Amino acid sequence: MSVPDPVQCPGCGDGSAITCLGKRHAVYPAGCVMLIGLPFAILHQSSAPILYRCGKCGKEFGIRGALARICLIILITIGLAIVWGITAALT
Ligand SMILES: [Zn+2]
Repeated sequence: MSVPDPVQCPGCGDGSAITCLGKRHAVYPAGCVMLIGLPFAILHQSSAPILYRCGKCGKEFGIRGALARICLIILITIGLAIVWGITAALT
């Protein structure tokens, strides 16, 4: 996976020694996917930030791309819709 430009370390501000570590969340076991639902699992995976490590100061940090931000917004919307649905059903 290549490092998109510009990625800067939030610790030291240097962008020359950044290594991409991949997604923060590990891939779910099949049972967990069955439990929460495949579309939700895909959304959650997509919304996870990509981890980077700075080679200068050793700091690890996550960055969300545009797609991850959109997935996160969809996730929050679904979450709010579920909460709203439960609240509406109870009252
Ligand atoms: Zn750094």
